[in-house]
Amino acid sequence: MTESMTNHDLAGRRQEWSLVCARCGGIFDLGPLVFGCPACASDGLQSVLDLRFRPRHPPTPLAARAGAAGLCRYLDLLPGGEADDWVSLGEGGTNLQRSRIIGPRLGLEALYFKNETTNPTWSFKDRYVAVTVNVARRFGYRRVVVSSTGNLGVSVAAYAAAAGMDCLFIALPRTARPIVDQARLHGARVVITRPESRQEVFEHCARHEDWFPVGLFLDRPVQNPFGIEGYKTFAYEMIDDLGRAPAAVLFPCARGNGLYGAWKGFREALEWGWAAAAPAMVGCQPEGANSLEVSLRQGAERAVELPRIESVAVSAAETIADDHALAAIRESGGDALSVSDQEILAAARELGREGLCVEASSALPVACLPRLVESRRFDPAAPVVCVLTAAGIKWPAHLDLGGPPIDEVENDAGVVDAYLAAFGKGRNGRG
Ligand SMILES: [Zn+2]
Repeated sequence: MTESMTNHDLAGRRQEWSLVCARCGGIFDLGPLVFGCPACASDGLQSVLDLRFRPRHPPTPLAARAGAAGLCRYLDLLPGGEADDWVSLGEGGTNLQRSRIIGPRLGLEALYFKNETTNPTWSFKDRYVAVTVNVARRFGYRRVVVSSTGNLGVSVAAYAAAAGMDCLFIALPRTARPIVDQARLHGARVVITRPESRQEVFEHCARHEDWFPVGLFLDRPVQNPFGIEGYKTFAYEMIDDLGRAPAAVLFPCARGNGLYGAWKGFREALEWGWAAAAPAMVGCQPEGANSLEVSLRQGAERAVELPRIESVAVSAAETIADDHALAAIRESGGDALSVSDQEILAAARELGREGLCVEASSALPVACLPRLVESRRFDPAAPVVCVLTAAGIKWPAHLDLGGPPIDEVENDAGVVDAYLAAFGKGRNGRG
């Protein structure tokens, strides 16, 4: 592995990046460190590494970036981001859609939805995976392994295919069949394990040095500090589109990786003078899986672990959040909120009326929004963004949220006319 690393042209930009440990303060050169901080490990401790970016020159301002779209617009700000050799499926650059119904109902003049369902595999994970797979290639890897219930696994399968890499996807018995089949379509090998053995199987694969693990950015024996940088592009894109940072950004959170990555982007934008202020970051979780909210209310230094629960928001029902996400919420003056399954499904239904089809977890920000508005913590005229992380179509069992009835009609002009008449008068009074 070492030889191919040196063969790759990382040298020029490699000094701009380092890996830092918040626990011991250790700083390490950019390399495939996927088992946490080596210094802490030698003391028998486990600690997550985070990337630090110190560009040699001030980066090109957002407004002066022309041409490229999506993540490719910001490759100079991402690890492994070399414009002439970036494997892309067209990730990022998603629409910021102004709310027509929900915003006006809540008295918010500029409520926006960041529609992540238009990413190549229909979820925000593509930002994380694009960076991870490109970094893995630059480190000389030809194989990736991922453990996932859904969105992450499909995304890794697709990007591995685009990069010509082997992919092993460790899934669970409850992983939806369309997800398994999509991963297989991309050529991934899928293995299904029991939930209690999933982590061990993943770690076993990661210890084989030719497999690059696409784990999450978490305090776990196997972790991936690289992909989180892909989420910085949320911040760049919002500032690019709005001409300023939003007053608040609401994120659905399992562990809060997306929220933390976006916060890193906003911090950079402040540092480089691209925005005058940063938003309040608001973590949105299902009731009972609200590690962020409980930790904040308790004033806990580190995220509190909760008992496992079932929620309609499958992708967000985790027992513990990441400490970095908790710190980002505090640093940004944000908050963490939680809502019931009923509120989540009502929000998903209302988003449907805005023209958006999201998975239940992605409706969390909209479900939490009324509580944030009640707290009157920001100007109702200022832009507020709800990040809608993934598409509803991958979870067909959750799609029937009580729309209009389905009727059968015969090919009989009288019957069809009567059916149309039931709609009432049209805009031009033509009935
Ligand atoms: Zn350390």
